[in-house]
Amino acid sequence: MSDRIKPDHFDALIVGARCAGAATAMLLSRAGLKVLVVDRDEPGTDTMSTHALMRGAVMQLDRWGLLDGLLADGTPKVRKTTFHYGTQALPLDIRPGFGVDFLVAPRRSVLDAQLVEAARASGAEVRHRTALRKLLRDADTGRVTGAELSGPNGKTYRVSAGISIGADGRRSSVARQVGAEAYAASSHKTGCVYGYFEGIPDDGYRWFYDESASAGAIPTNGGAHCVFGAVPDGAFRALRTAYKPSELLVELAARANPGFGALLAEAAPVSHPIVFTGAHGHMRQSFGPGWALVGDAGYFKDPLTAHGITDALRDAEILADAVIVGSDQALAAFQRQRDALSRELFDITDQIASFDWNLRDLQGLHKRLNDTMKREQRWMETAFVNSKLAA
Ligand SMILES: Cc1cc2nc3c(=O)[nH]c(=O)nc-3n(C[C@H](O)[C@H](O)[C@H](O)COP(=O)(O)OP(=O)(O)OC[C@H]3O[C@@H](n4cnc5c(N)ncnc54)[C@H](O)[C@@H]3O)c2cc1C
Repeated sequence: MSDRIKPDHFDALIVGARCAGAATAMLLSRAGLKVLVVDRDEPGTDTMSTHALMRGAVMQLDRWGLLDGLLADGTPKVRKTTFHYGTQALPLDIRPGFGVDFLVAPRRSVLDAQLVEAARASGAEVRHRTALRKLLRDADTGRVTGAELSGPNGKTYRVSAGISIGADGRRSSVARQVGAEAYAASSHKTGCVYGYFEGIPDDGYRWFYDESASAGAIPTNGGAHCVFGAVPDGAFRALRTAYKPSELLVELAARANPGFGALLAEAAPVSHPIVFTGAHGHMRQSFGPGWALVGDAGYFKDPLTAHGITDALRDAEILADAVIVGSDQALAAFQRQRDALSRELFDITDQIASFDWNLRDLQGLHKRLNDTMKREQRWMETAFVNSKLAA
């Protein structure tokens, strides 16, 4: 591109158009900012993630006016969660609270597409098949001033932006380019395999634990269940060489709960299994001159506690509020608030991912996790209740 052509200017450029990026784009556009959100993926695709949402995520989707659209897309209501500790089953109804009396687990192709549509309907410009090449900086101050992007035809071009936001996942190139330091890292990680199955009766979320393996069944769109099995990454590496992915999923389900393993062996797979070899959690510096990080780009933890999407939808709103205020102090407050809400979730997740517990200890960890999520939901209800960013 010729340097003589002035690049398009946006108040905010967001790299990554999934749960963190599309939600942030929607909220900033609703507040009247001129927003460009880009993603190198095709629109409406799945990504590597199971997708059980916790109450905090459902609160956000409801407040933003998106829950009905998800239900209309065939996302089933989840009214019950059952924890299976060895042979002991602990069924829990989803009690009404914080305006929510059911949970949902939409496929990412459904959830992310609805968030993108909401961003577009709020005025954001959305460009898929468009990748960040490099961030641009002011030559004198070093402040990030925009980015060089490449579009579907491979051509590169520049945009300028008041703030460039990395919502580009745990291997964020925005984080890498700005040199965002990690100030917390997890000690443990699990490997997992997951896939979609028909023929499993819908009985809400089901989580199965044995001292060496965990599995889960998550009812989702099209009458299917998303089923996963997980073990510590060392064991996962050995098992991966011993089993084909489809056999590995049934094997892990059977290790976590023999009855569930038998149920899965009879169910009909409707997808190829997907393998996640595991990744350590991180908390990264998430703002600086002209840039910010949201979602996994800034803060990631092991998927075993199924809270990443809930974090992303929560933090999209905390960041959007800070960007609207527009000061460095507001961005610093965003990071402080994210960490205050996340630190305990991060630590408990790391303890659960260690598999260094017996089933009684694990119940204690789940109780702490539940108490932490309740505190988070109370905070969200109070902090976001008067937000102008709701639907
Ligand atoms: C195996 C697994 C299971 C999980 N299960 C659950 C669960 O049950 N419940 C839950 O709440 N969470 C779960 N999580 C966590 C959840 O997937 C993440 O927390 C969530 O996806 C974070 O969303 P995000 O928008 O920050 O990033 P992502 O969903 O990773 O999206 C980032 C986007 O950025 C785009 N991108 C990256 N680089 C560039 C670039 N250079 N240019 C343009 N675009 C770019 C990518 O294409 C991608 O679309 C799971 C994660 C894994 C790995």
